[in-house]
Amino acid sequence: MHMKATGYKTILIKGGVVLTINPSEDIFSEGYVLIEGDIIKSIGTITEAPPAGTVEKVIDARDGLIMPGLINTHTHAAMACLRGLADDLPLETWLNDYIFPVEAHYVNPEFVYQGTLLAGIEMIRSGTTCFADGYFFEAEAARAVSQLGLRAILGQGIVDFPTPDVPNPAFNLENAKKYLERSLASSLITPTLFCHSAYTCKPETLKKARTVCNDHGIPLLIHLAETESEVKEIMSQYGVSPVKHLHTLGVFDGETIAAHCVWISPDELPLLKEKKVRIAHCPESNMKLASGVAPVPEFLKLGIPVGLGTDGCASNNNLDLFSEMDTAAKIHKLVRKDPSVMDAKTVVKLATIGGAEVLGLKDKIGSLELGKKADIIILDWKQPHLTPVYNYYSHLVYSATGHDVRTVMVDGTVIMDNQQILTVNEKEILTAVETIGRKIKPASLKKGGTL
Ligand SMILES: [Zn+2]
Repeated sequence: MHMKATGYKTILIKGGVVLTINPSEDIFSEGYVLIEGDIIKSIGTITEAPPAGTVEKVIDARDGLIMPGLINTHTHAAMACLRGLADDLPLETWLNDYIFPVEAHYVNPEFVYQGTLLAGIEMIRSGTTCFADGYFFEAEAARAVSQLGLRAILGQGIVDFPTPDVPNPAFNLENAKKYLERSLASSLITPTLFCHSAYTCKPETLKKARTVCNDHGIPLLIHLAETESEVKEIMSQYGVSPVKHLHTLGVFDGETIAAHCVWISPDELPLLKEKKVRIAHCPESNMKLASGVAPVPEFLKLGIPVGLGTDGCASNNNLDLFSEMDTAAKIHKLVRKDPSVMDAKTVVKLATIGGAEVLGLKDKIGSLELGKKADIIILDWKQPHLTPVYNYYSHLVYSATGHDVRTVMVDGTVIMDNQQILTVNEKEILTAVETIGRKIKPASLKKGGTL
């Protein structure tokens, strides 16, 4: 059944644990959140809650855990259509022999629209309320996101080779500028640019994209130092590392959201800090493509903003940030042989307030505080794998999964109620993506060999 999301002037969420992620890290073991319009009006222990009769809608959150919606700082939503298409390959083979050829043949506006709707459903179901995206035909992603009711920063993809939306790369910046001029911005959507990387974009393209972003006051999204071969390639072409290459070009002279940052040398850390580069840490994608492990504890020690990202569904292969938190907490312990690094509370912060800072939205989202936007999720907390509770952060990172999310609110509007998506027709979207998937024949495109 497909119900409709309804806006209420005032909503009271009461009962349940309220995990605020505010600066004093308040947790109300039985609390409430009062929402007026799109804003958190008051928050506290249940004894201080306003009487139910004074609000338009009451959400009973007993046996639940109420927390800020999770923030995915790096993905390619429409790639949900390519999940499981090519696994267990190194990045260069995966990208050049499978993903790029398949994208060239099959990506079109319908692919991006339906793929983003599908990814959006998965994100809502697993408690993500805001994400940063980069792909082709990004106006179609914006159309999908506005229907889903999610918050997002949506970057039009830019590379210096022919793409489905820009067959002649000489026009990639023109196309991107047109995208920015299409009035897609809303209270929930920030259109921006996504330069794929230093190895797929020429210096001139990167410089121009930086200027366009600065002119519009928007962040530039980019993959940075993802693999060792990227470092080698940039080094052989320009004689410097990817970080120094982008710095020399002035790419960091403006808001930059850099995904991965795996191959960063210690002497580059102060530069990233000085240029205020914000980092999307994508451990599962980095593990799956065997790219390496980003020096996240060093980033955090220096105060470099870090958030979590799932990356696209073809390299993860899911969009569940609970799973990403679990991985982010464990991978650094393993490689450093130190179980004290990346403790559970640190990791929950990366997925919430840290992500908000990376996306430049720290004043609006990432924690449950007075005056912030009401982007809130409620988990079903009365479950065998979450009983008993000694530490809420521990359960969120090591035991909970996206399937535990019951209710999702974005900007004061409930978009999932009791695990039912209210904004779009889930069944229709699954059928549409099945149809897209049936047409994709990657084996015929791969140079040599079959899948
Ligand atoms: Zn990516």
